[in-house]
Parts: sequence; C-alpha cells; structure tokens
Amino acid sequence: MKRLKIHITGAVQGVGFRPFVYNLAKRLNLNGYVTNDTHGVIIEIEGKEKNINQFLISLQTEKPPLAHIFSQEIEELPLKEFKDFEIKKSKSKGKKEVFILPDISTCEECLKEMNDPQNRRYRYPFINCTNCGPRFTIIEKLPYDRPNTTMKKFKMCPQCEKEYKDPQDRRFHAQPNACPVCGPHISLFTSDKEFISEKEKALKDTVKLLKEGKILAIKGVGGFHLVCDATNNKAIKTLRERKKRGEKPFAVMFKDINQIKEYADITDFEEAIIVSPEKPVVVVKSKNNTDLSKEVAPYLDRIGVFLPYSPLHHLLLNDFGKPLIMTSANLSDEPIVKDNEKAFEKLSIFTDYILVHNRDIKNRVDDSVVRIIDKKISFIRRSRGYAPLPVKLPFKLDKKVLAVGGHQKNTVAIGFDDKAFLSQHIGDLQTIDACKNFEEVIHSFFELYDFKPQIVVSDLHPRYYSTNWAKKFSNENNIPLIQIQHHYAHALSLMAENGIKDEPIFAVCWDGTGYGEDGNLWGGEFLIADYKGYERVCYFNYFKLIGGEKAIKEPRRVALSILFEIFGKDLPYIPTLKAFKEKEIDLFYKTWEKGLNSPLSSSAGRIFDAAASILNIRQILSYEGQSGMIMENFYNWNVKDYYPFEINDVINWEPIFREMINDNLDIETKISKFINTLAYIVIETYKKKGKGLKLGLSGGVFQNKPLIKKIIQLAEKEKITVLTHKKVPSNDGGLSLGQIIICAK
Ligand code: ZN
Ligand code: ZN
Ligand code: FE
Repeated sequence: MKRLKIHITGAVQGVGFRPFVYNLAKRLNLNGYVTNDTHGVIIEIEGKEKNINQFLISLQTEKPPLAHIFSQEIEELPLKEFKDFEIKKSKSKGKKEVFILPDISTCEECLKEMNDPQNRRYRYPFINCTNCGPRFTIIEKLPYDRPNTTMKKFKMCPQCEKEYKDPQDRRFHAQPNACPVCGPHISLFTSDKEFISEKEKALKDTVKLLKEGKILAIKGVGGFHLVCDATNNKAIKTLRERKKRGEKPFAVMFKDINQIKEYADITDFEEAIIVSPEKPVVVVKSKNNTDLSKEVAPYLDRIGVFLPYSPLHHLLLNDFGKPLIMTSANLSDEPIVKDNEKAFEKLSIFTDYILVHNRDIKNRVDDSVVRIIDKKISFIRRSRGYAPLPVKLPFKLDKKVLAVGGHQKNTVAIGFDDKAFLSQHIGDLQTIDACKNFEEVIHSFFELYDFKPQIVVSDLHPRYYSTNWAKKFSNENNIPLIQIQHHYAHALSLMAENGIKDEPIFAVCWDGTGYGEDGNLWGGEFLIADYKGYERVCYFNYFKLIGGEKAIKEPRRVALSILFEIFGKDLPYIPTLKAFKEKEIDLFYKTWEKGLNSPLSSSAGRIFDAAASILNIRQILSYEGQSGMIMENFYNWNVKDYYPFEINDVINWEPIFREMINDNLDIETKISKFINTLAYIVIETYKKKGKGLKLGLSGGVFQNKPLIKKIIQLAEKEKITVLTHKKVPSNDGGLSLGQIIICAK
C-alpha cells in the first residue's frame, strides 16, 4: 500500500480533469480525493502500488483532450486510510496561478444531442459539456467554478444539477451547464428595442430576416457580430455604407467544411486548422464563379472562412443554409460590443434587428485570424480560442512584468516565472472606448491572476497612449518603467517564441511604422539583436512622408516623394502623377523640398505602398496593408527575375524604382519582380552583415505570403536557418511578448 500527493499545474480546470481523475481512481480501486486549487489540481491517492503506477501512466495518456499539463510534483506520504475517493470543494485562497482556458467550440457529442428531437436539449442554443463551451469569456475570477462565472445567475434545474453532480455524467462539473428549463435563452428585437420574439421562434424569425437581406447584430461568445447573407450584394453594400467600412474584407461563416470547399480551394493543412477546436478565421484562396458576393473581399483572391463554434451558430447556419458574413460588431476602431444595452446604443445605426441572449460576457474576445504559410500557422490576430493561454519563455523572469504593447493591434501581456500571458486582441488605441478597453483588460488580468507588476514595459513612442499610460502607472505605483524600441521588441518576441537563448540573431523587422531612436519613423530595419541589446546594421534609405499621417493612407504621396528624390522636378508621367492635380504636385514639391510636415521614414510597408502607386494598384488605401494584400493576387512563381538594388550602410531603393518605371513588362511580372527584389534584399543583406547567425523575420510586412515563402526558398538554397512567428502575430499584436522578455536579462 502507498499514498501519494500529486500537484499538477497547467490548463487543467474546466476541461473535465477532476471527473477524469475520479473515474480513473475508481477504476483502479484507489481512495483519496481530487480538488482544484489556485495553482491547478491536487490529487491524493492511496492503494496498491501497482494500481498507483498505472494511475500515474493513465494520468498522462488518457487525460481529457483539452488539458495541458505544465508540471507535476509527486510526494509520498504516510498512509491515511481514506475510505473512498471524492471530489472535494475548491480552495480559493492563495496565489492564483492556474491557466484560464480559452473558449472551446461545441463538441461532436453536444451537436448530436442538439440535433436529436428526443433529447431534452433539442435545438438548445447554449448546450455545452465538460469538453466544450465558453470559458474565458464568462470567468470573473479564479478558481473556475460556476459562482465565479456569469452563469451564477442561472440556478440549475434538478435534472441539470443531477448531471453536474454525477461523476459518471459527461456534464459532471461542467460550469456553464444549462438546459432550456434553467439556462440562458435568446430574444429578438428591432434595433429600436421593440421585442419581437424569443427562444425557438426568435431563431426562426432571425433566419427569415436574414433571407430577406436584413442586417442583424447577433450576440455570440465573445461579443456581437454583424451578420448578413454573404451572397447578397445589396445587403453587404448597405452594411459597408452604414459601417463606413470601405473595402476591408469581411469574415464568412459556413455551415460545414464541405460548404467551405464549394467556395474555396483549401489545402489539407488549412482544413485541419479550420476544423480544430479553436475554430479561427482562416484566410484561404477563394474560388471563382461562386455565388459569394464580390463585396465580401473586394480586389482580393482570398477570403477569411470559419466554422460555427457555438451551438447558436450551428443552428443559424444550418437553418439558413448559405454562408453568412460574421464580422465583429463595433464602431470603427472601437472594441467589439459585448453587452446587450451597449448593443442597442451603438449598433442600432448599422442594423435592422438585434438578437441578444441573457448570458453575460465578462471578457470581450474577437475571433482569431490566421493564415497558413509553409505548413505553419501564422497569426494575424491571436484572440478567441488561443488567448489567454501563455507562451513559454526560454528562461525565468525574476520579476513580475507588465507589458503594454504598441498602438495598433494592441495586446498587453503579463509575465511571471517562465510564462508570458498575452491578452486577447485589444485593437488600435485610436478612440476613447478602445483606450478604456485597454485599461479594462489590464485590470481584469491583474484580478484574474492576482497579479501586481514589479516593472512595466512600453514602446519608445512618446505619443502612444500605451506609453503614456505606462509612464503614469510607473509613477503612481513607484515601479520602474522600461521603454524599448519598437523593432527591437519585434525581434525579441521572435526570439522568445523560438526559444533562442544566448545567441544573437540577424533580425529583419519590416512593418508600417515604429518610433526610432533618432526620432524618425523606422520600419525597414536589419538588426543584430540579443537579449542585452541590438545594433541597427542596415535599413531602407530614408524618404520623406509628405503630409505625415496622410502619407500612411495615400500610397501616391509616398511614391511622389520617392519620385522627387530620384527625378527632382522632371517627373516621368506615370500613374502616380495622374492621381494628383497639377497644382498639387507643385505644392507638394515645395513641401517636400522644405521638409514641412514630412517626417523621415525607412518603412518597408511604405516601400510596398510606393510600388503600388507607381504600378497603379492603389493610390489611396481603404485599410491598412491593402496595397500589399492586393499585390499578392498577382504574384507569379514562374517569375524568377528581380530589380537591382544597392546595399551599403543603407539599402538604396533608387535602382528598383528606376527600372520598375522603365521596363515594359506586364503588371503580374512587375509585381512578382518587386516581391522577389525584397526577398533578395533580405538574403543579400544577411550575407553581407549577418552571416553565420539565424535569420529572423518579424513585423507586419511578413504577413505577405509570397514574400515570406520566397525568402524561405532562397534561404534553403543557402542553408540559412530562418525564424518566423508561429505563436504570436508578426504584426504589432506580438510586441507585448518582446517587451516581457527584455526583463529576463
Ligand atoms: Zn460538448
Ligand atoms: Zn436545466
Ligand atoms: Fe510594428
């Protein structure tokens, strides 16, 4: 006989771990108990040594699919003669360290029940079990137990309670357990808050309204979506007009994977990610000649597709039959709307009807967006399904760190021990509500993890809201503030997630903009970086952004500046010029010459924009990154050629644009040559300045699939090791991870 105490940490709460342990112990005739504590799960078992050994093996091999064990401590204790095996009530005191699980899409078993007319949860939009359902979006504090979630207001009916208490039941301790008798339900209103119907009738009415081409706001798991028929041009046009959302693509939800295949060409690997329990939006190649509206993703040969991840989505998509636009419901640059009252206040201008439910959302979470590059997942937005699971760091932090991220696509992170917990996507800190949400997320992280930072890290940009917030926070709490350069933070995040220890890497950090040490707008940087610091070994030669901020939205201004730089006043008559009035060009020449409101930039994103204007792809952007995204359409792998360039202390881009203007090739070849050129610049600069090191690629520009694939292809030939992002976005959504790791050394 033997008695063991086992302490497990990791993502082990809310995944059916305790019932699993209970059933395992019963099966092996072991007595003792299992309980949740704030660090994870504690198990005591007593019984025959042979059975205890089997227990330890099965703990690893049979554990529930969603459980992630990070560590396991075992201690042998004197026999206590337990009489039975029981699940003990959770202890809620002490330092909170368990992982909060993301929200998990509806499992197969629940779907089967939901579609079974004999089942008491037939067509119930909130069906869930121990293996699926909401988690992070409903949790108020740890430990993860029903009274600490927004489900606390629903008292379980006797039948639900029986399931919840029965260790043999698949809903044993499923915290959001509910049924039509005792759980949440849906209600349909006009956007003026006039009640129309509820429950099954509301579902039927909703589908009918969608078929009529109406636009609805529908409450989901992490917030509201704006929803309409993805095959209805008029509906989508109206949505774009009302939302003032020019051409930015919308995500589309399909009823199942087969329906996705009717509309898109997907690879096996893409399919695997689309059907995974996280159910992110996956950007894939769209098929031609389908009935999907061209308004979904104007000018792009790709669409963001995803599958239903809540029971309500399944019911809607099945009843509706056709694909639906499902886009985060918000005013531009504001956070996704999560509360019913706010929905009527903010969304009534976009929508005809609003479908709400009465399960409150505690933490707002947008859908995650990924794409698959080179058989690896590449995050555009890491949010629902992934946040707030931690990223493991290559070494331990000796202090508790708060990192506040950047300005665009903001995420924040807290770090302790060897983990960084990145927040869900917060977004651009452009509006008062977005900034408020930023603070709310930070405070809810403090609360959830019982966390008090000893150091705070921000960007270097003096005018970022996040920087100023961090300054204030550091003063008020009397803790040190570290400010780190934007592109160095990109490089660090890449190193952290790739487990780089004590070696420098050659990091190519290309993005739209980041504040440089010299006060200029960096963005085409080549750094040799380690955890102690970095050296800026090369960058794109500076050019002037005529009109500052305005140039970021107008590729024609960037191109014009580059043309002035190359040709002076004698400009060749190319599409860029046609995009201006003659008077404007004279005026801009003077502005440019004097450098009035024309900050210097080395941004690779802007180089993309300049090419887009010169090639007449785009003169004014409808959304950030649009020029590069459209140019991807034209990339042809058969084009091997590239434009000339010069590498000295800086990259001279003049020869690229001179030849681009002069050669008489078709647009497809020109664009392919341009993207190839950027890939060769990376490789050649590496060979000149970083030989022997690993080659890292970070920054938003490296979301461009042909560019990154071309670089990897060229690097393979030269036997260069390439590091890319797989766990956090390469865009500014990954900055907070880099800011955390700087505190480790
Ligand atoms: Zn389930
Ligand atoms: Zn019930
Ligand atoms: Fe950046």
